[in-house]
Amino acid sequence: MKGTHVQGMMSVEEAMARLMEMAEAAPIRERERVPLAAAQGRVLAEDLISTLDLPPWPNSAMDGYALRLADWQDEPLVVSQRIFAGQAPEPLAPGTCARIFTGAPVPAGADCVEMQENALIGDDQRVGFTEPMVAGQNIRPQGQETTVGDHVLDAGTRMGPVELGLAASLGCAELDVVRRVRVAVLSTGDELIEPGLPLGPGQIYNSNRILLCSWLERLGCEVVDAGILPDDLQKTRSTLGGLGHVDLILSTGGVSVGEADFLGHALREDGELSLWKLAIKPGKPLTFGHFRGVPVIGLPGNPASTLVTFALLARPYLLRRQGVQDVAPLRFKVPAGFTWGKPGDRREYLRGRLEQGKAVYYSNQSSGVLRSAAWAEGLIEVREGSTVALGDWLDFIPLSEVLG
Ligand code: AMP
Ligand code: MG
Repeated sequence: MKGTHVQGMMSVEEAMARLMEMAEAAPIRERERVPLAAAQGRVLAEDLISTLDLPPWPNSAMDGYALRLADWQDEPLVVSQRIFAGQAPEPLAPGTCARIFTGAPVPAGADCVEMQENALIGDDQRVGFTEPMVAGQNIRPQGQETTVGDHVLDAGTRMGPVELGLAASLGCAELDVVRRVRVAVLSTGDELIEPGLPLGPGQIYNSNRILLCSWLERLGCEVVDAGILPDDLQKTRSTLGGLGHVDLILSTGGVSVGEADFLGHALREDGELSLWKLAIKPGKPLTFGHFRGVPVIGLPGNPASTLVTFALLARPYLLRRQGVQDVAPLRFKVPAGFTWGKPGDRREYLRGRLEQGKAVYYSNQSSGVLRSAAWAEGLIEVREGSTVALGDWLDFIPLSEVLG
């Protein structure tokens, strides 16, 4: 594929385009029917088509009185019925009005609801109205939201609380969703040990494992925790070989072309491997390949690099495999609350937040410093080759959005 390269590096756009192509070549085709309560975070396998009008009948948007406008001649009207939500009213008797409450069906024959604040109840219990009225006021028409046959949600939609609420409003008790993506998480490195064990010389605690496992769970994936892989070719081979049932092997570390590049070695032997030098900071090296047919994404090991490359590349890839079209993270423009004097050759994603409406970044942007991301509310994009003056508009990608 021809593409944009910045001084021998692959642009973020090209990496994204390649990953999307590969995701589309390996869609998750299996689907399952799940109860609504279990569909949170899942991806719709079929369009959600309305089988009813919503609302099913015209109903009142107010507590008040329903009347036929032509019957109002400045003479108080008798209240001929009271209609609560959940009741089926009689047609409105000519020359009368109906007491009506919010959500109750508007009786046949009425064409107007006046709110109770504009009603005057006389000693004889008849009701007069103090304000001018127009036909249709305070009536939510039948089918205002959907009508039978409407495509309410497209296949490929991720179901969040709002979409679930919408499906429930249409009476759906179950949904056809795409099978969860099975992702094996692998941490590589002899230096890693798990929290809870005493730290030996040269060791660090494994932070990427829980970072990715919990994140993948939030994304609705089925997580296979493959633990820590030591820097050893034989072990790398055998561990990868035991993961034939997953849809993706997601590893961290060991992807810089160093001596301890055992993952790369195993992939070259028993599959294939592309090593991408990305024009992205943090997170330059990224591996994409296959091991015996199973796709492998190797993210860089430094935790802030893992975070940024997962958010911007692996997450969209996983969503696209499930058929989600709109995978690019939400971004919006914010004015810079800082200056940037030296143009970089990579696109920089500063872990930052908004203070008084301006983007500022954490003082230490080292790729090893995960604290930067805990402090941050989002990623501030500083494009390659550009400088930033105070008040320049920059893209901001909220972390809350990509983490879910
Ligand atoms: P590597 O790509 O294996 O050379 O790792 C780059 C840096 O990230 C090294 O400082 C590693 O110690 C660190 N690192 C790799 N994996 C992890 C992990 N799972 N948790 C925390 N740090 C890691
Ligand atoms: Mg390593």
